[in-house]
Amino acid sequence: MKGVPTGSPVAILFSLLIMLLLSCLAHAEERVDAAADYDTNNVFARILRGELPADIVFESEYALAFHDISPKARVHVLVIPKGPYTNILQFNQNASSEEKLGLLDAISQTARIMGVDESGFRLVSNTGRDGGQTVPHLHFHLIGGEHL
Ligand code: 5GP
Repeated sequence: MKGVPTGSPVAILFSLLIMLLLSCLAHAEERVDAAADYDTNNVFARILRGELPADIVFESEYALAFHDISPKARVHVLVIPKGPYTNILQFNQNASSEEKLGLLDAISQTARIMGVDESGFRLVSNTGRDGGQTVPHLHFHLIGGEHL
């Protein structure tokens, strides 16, 4: 940097600010915009196409449920529609009644299969950037099997 000797406190502070900015930008890219167009190469689309493996719990014409690769509790299953929907807003707007009922049914069946229908569970769908969504295909985290 012209006029600022390298190693000076100003240069070090400037470098730190640049690094902080770059790290914020990188982090922002990992999260999904709630209004984003559907990305056909997202990891769950690839699981649906059989390109990536998944430990499947339940499958129907409209939905798929499989164990989360990084479980946050004894039971942590992801329930997704088979159609190309980025989030619950797009799903509600564009999915057919059969797809909507099919997803609800898959959630109930998964809870029963995992044995948490009586003990209870948490159902979460992180949506968009502020919701912390990292995979741009609608999914419900079904979490339980212990006191949360
Ligand atoms: P989100 O952060 O979008 O709400 O949740 C994405 C979830 O997908 C995370 O809990 C993460 O562990 C899970 N996940 C990411 N990649 C894979 C994968 O390849 N297979 C499975 N089974 N889960 C994944």
